[in-house]
Amino acid sequence: MIVVMNPGASEEDVSRITEKLKQMGYGVHLSSGERRTIIGVIGQRREEAAQALEAMPQVEQVVFITRPFKLAGREFHPDNTVIKLGDTSIGASELVVMAGPCAVESEDQLMEAAAAVKEAGAQAFRAGAFKPRTSPYSFQGLEYEGLKYLDKVRSETGLLIVTEIMDQFSVEEVADCADIIQVGARNMQNYYLLRELGKIRKPVLLKRGLSATIEEWLMAAEYILSGGNYEVILCERGIRTFEPYTRNTLDLSAIPMVKHLSHLPVIVDPSHGTGHSYLVPAMSKAALAAGSDGLMIEVHPKPEEALSDGPQSLNPEQFKSLIKDLKGVALSAGRLL
Ligand code: PEP
Ligand code: MN
Repeated sequence: MIVVMNPGASEEDVSRITEKLKQMGYGVHLSSGERRTIIGVIGQRREEAAQALEAMPQVEQVVFITRPFKLAGREFHPDNTVIKLGDTSIGASELVVMAGPCAVESEDQLMEAAAAVKEAGAQAFRAGAFKPRTSPYSFQGLEYEGLKYLDKVRSETGLLIVTEIMDQFSVEEVADCADIIQVGARNMQNYYLLRELGKIRKPVLLKRGLSATIEEWLMAAEYILSGGNYEVILCERGIRTFEPYTRNTLDLSAIPMVKHLSHLPVIVDPSHGTGHSYLVPAMSKAALAAGSDGLMIEVHPKPEEALSDGPQSLNPEQFKSLIKDLKGVALSAGRLL
């Protein structure tokens, strides 16, 4: 249930009630909005507890949440969540662009890609050091060595670093390197990993699973939020359908639906969503028009030589011209790029 406090309730009122709830054995999460505080109460549904709370003058109302995701839902947090990282805000009116190669392949490849995406105007650099490849015979990533090159990108360019984590054993190392930790589609329901990420205080980019429903996706976010890490960014990257011409079917309707259900920022990855670089511009524009808070785009200095996902990667020129085109789309969607 949620306890909606009166607009006039003081911090002391809120902490008195949260203490009481904890003594009653409930888990408590706070959402402090501009107008009022909402207390998210996790535990067994008890009518008498709700009635007692509602009788308190500082409490406006007590509402039982019927949806399975409690902390990810808008009832608990009516305002959009905005994640601030330095000068970049994710989920606010300014859009965020995360771009870079699928994988860290070498120091030179990485530095060249980083310089190109920075010049084009991206705020964050993406590249996987740990790669979840479908085939065990494909390039598996440079792993810890790759993280070192990503550290260098941050210190030399100032770009935010987004990189994928594959398991709960490397949380410390990946969190040390990343500004935003990416959970890939294949790991969306790796609950041990999600629980570990709930314990840290670093933003997590949670990609939608290969065949995950929106509810399953929000429940995966709930694992992270319930640990007390409230900074989760959702990323729509296409889902598996019967259509083979595209690598995945980019579910653009998921964006307004997630925005309706949840306060979390949502971005779109048109590269994995389509599998073809020539489809990336159209789907990037569509994503912004549909209300996405940003984009994640694969960019490689030489896509034809990429060790993974070359066919869906833009080259630096294509990326630069896409960013120019997107500025107008962003404006007409009431956003800034
Ligand atoms: C990636 O971002 O390179 C990646 C592996 O994406 P996904 O998890 O969406 O397949
Ligand atoms: Mn990729």
